[in-house]
Amino acid sequence: MLDVIKLLPENVANQIAAGEVIQRPASAVKELMENALDAGATQIDLVVKDAGKALIMVTDNGCGMSEADARLCFERHATSKISKAEDLFAIRTMGFRGEALASIAAIAQVELKTRRKEDEVGVKVVNEGSVIKEQTPVPMAVGTTFSVKNLFFNVPARRNFLKTPASEMRHIVEEFTRITLMNPEVGFTLVSDGKELYHLYPGNLKQRILGLFGSNYDGKLLPVSQDTDRVNIHGYIVKPEFAKKTRGEQFFFVNRRFIKHPYLHHAIENAFMEMIPQDSFPGYFLNIEVDPSDIDVNIHPTKTEVNFLDVKLVYAILHASVRKAIGQNNLSPMIDFEEPSNLGFDFGEVVKSSNPIVQPTVPIDPTYNPFSQKREFTKSSFGGGFKTERNDAPGDWRLLYGERTDQTPMVEEQPAETGQNSHYLQLSHSYIVTTVKSGLLLIDQHLAHYRILYEKFLKELETNEGHSQQELFPQPFTLNANDASLLRELLPELERVGFVLEQANPTTFMINGTPADLSGGDPISLLEKMLENYKQNRSDLQLDRKLGIAKTMAAQLSIKANTTLSEVEMQNLVDQLFGCSVAEVAPDGKKIYTLITIDNITEQLNN
Ligand code: ADP
Ligand code: MG
Repeated sequence: MLDVIKLLPENVANQIAAGEVIQRPASAVKELMENALDAGATQIDLVVKDAGKALIMVTDNGCGMSEADARLCFERHATSKISKAEDLFAIRTMGFRGEALASIAAIAQVELKTRRKEDEVGVKVVNEGSVIKEQTPVPMAVGTTFSVKNLFFNVPARRNFLKTPASEMRHIVEEFTRITLMNPEVGFTLVSDGKELYHLYPGNLKQRILGLFGSNYDGKLLPVSQDTDRVNIHGYIVKPEFAKKTRGEQFFFVNRRFIKHPYLHHAIENAFMEMIPQDSFPGYFLNIEVDPSDIDVNIHPTKTEVNFLDVKLVYAILHASVRKAIGQNNLSPMIDFEEPSNLGFDFGEVVKSSNPIVQPTVPIDPTYNPFSQKREFTKSSFGGGFKTERNDAPGDWRLLYGERTDQTPMVEEQPAETGQNSHYLQLSHSYIVTTVKSGLLLIDQHLAHYRILYEKFLKELETNEGHSQQELFPQPFTLNANDASLLRELLPELERVGFVLEQANPTTFMINGTPADLSGGDPISLLEKMLENYKQNRSDLQLDRKLGIAKTMAAQLSIKANTTLSEVEMQNLVDQLFGCSVAEVAPDGKKIYTLITIDNITEQLNN
């Protein structure tokens, strides 16, 4: 029998291997730029012609190579980084076992010029299709320049396979962006067909984002910063109000290496979920630092994927830190409640007294629900000092507007309930109008209450402090087998918000208790709504489930438009709203209030 197995010629093997690593001009750009970073460069300049097909040139001011290394670097498995390769992600070296340059040289005409600082002159090496064609000394500055010409010149099939120049250029800019984002302390330029597209100065991450995406990003970014013992997360998110209708800037890095991770992306979307309209996309630039032993590095080097050992933990931390950043953004509202007493109030004697006006303190109990009719049953409704301070103790109430020291009877100190001194108005039974220092605040009562209840239910789901109200006559709730099993999945969460359900048979549950906030509402329609939403938005994530339940409950139980509210109810609603971690938007992303400033009003009147 004849031997049929032959060894492939070296150059063919190289070309095949190259196809894995260098799929398009952008892959070569990535490899060359990463090598420059690995060489410790502080300035890296990229020049491309014809979207990288004619030329890719990367110049750096890094450590350079010796004459011998300048030849050797083109050999497969030639690397100066091998000792560190086992933790690819731990260190900044991005190379993968000395394959990149060998691959590029197999399919292009490469000219390398390099000089170390200890050498008088540099060396120029020309390598075409894995063959060294020339080696000469050259005078040059310290550093390295790789010029890659006519990529795929000897692999016509692949060359023809390339997309339009515009598309290949987009890929190049994408790689350039990913690399420059995570290396803001390094300066970069990108010149394409003689035109400078980017000139990025060394700086911090924020400056780099502005340099890449435009100075109009200034003021749109929120810092994210979270250190834990397992995971550190740093970077920026785009403020929810600037979320785009098209998928905008979404950048994840793990140990400064760009990755795509749909699951972790979901953590961010989730954190934004209630902040932006459903058809909008959040923007983010986040680096996740983990111990290299917490990730699986055994992945293909050209793939932007990574496996975390404990991805749920990373998910939770990521979600929490983005939420925190969004929350902190909202903690400094532009609305200034400092002097509610100065507008719309006639204080008579109180103001005339020489005592200084005391800074009002507004105690907030975010769990208080002014619309619960069954207040007697809801401990949380009357918990804390809220009610006492607001309605029961004229002394405390008086503190808000300046303490009296004389002993005259407190006739004028009627609580706001009487309506006399109120500065809460209801517009068409749907909007609350109130005054703040800087102008007029118009609040959508339904959305405000939706937000308040949403945060309340979320808290209950976290802390298991929901209040239940026993049903005197337990109602049966019968469903089909499929829905019954879904309901069983939701039982733990439902119990946390106050439902007490007992399975009577495979398809029937007895409703023995309902959430205190239901206040006489129909528990069955609420449960049905919950199931319906759960079916639509099914996910294995605990977090999702909680959000979904809180959202459905809040949407169902919040007061609607066209509901008449008393002064006290309006006041409570406004106070609670601004005690929420997010006061600006409802869980569906809709704006809750708008502020008409004095300046707006003046402007209007003068036009
Ligand atoms: P790897 O990056 O995995 O080591 P490469 O094929 O990309 O493999 O590079 C091979 C070697 O060539 C590197 O290990 C490094 O020693 C050297 N090298 C490549 N690019 C540069 C550069 N810009 N400056 C200095 N040395 C470089
Ligand atoms: Mg490399």
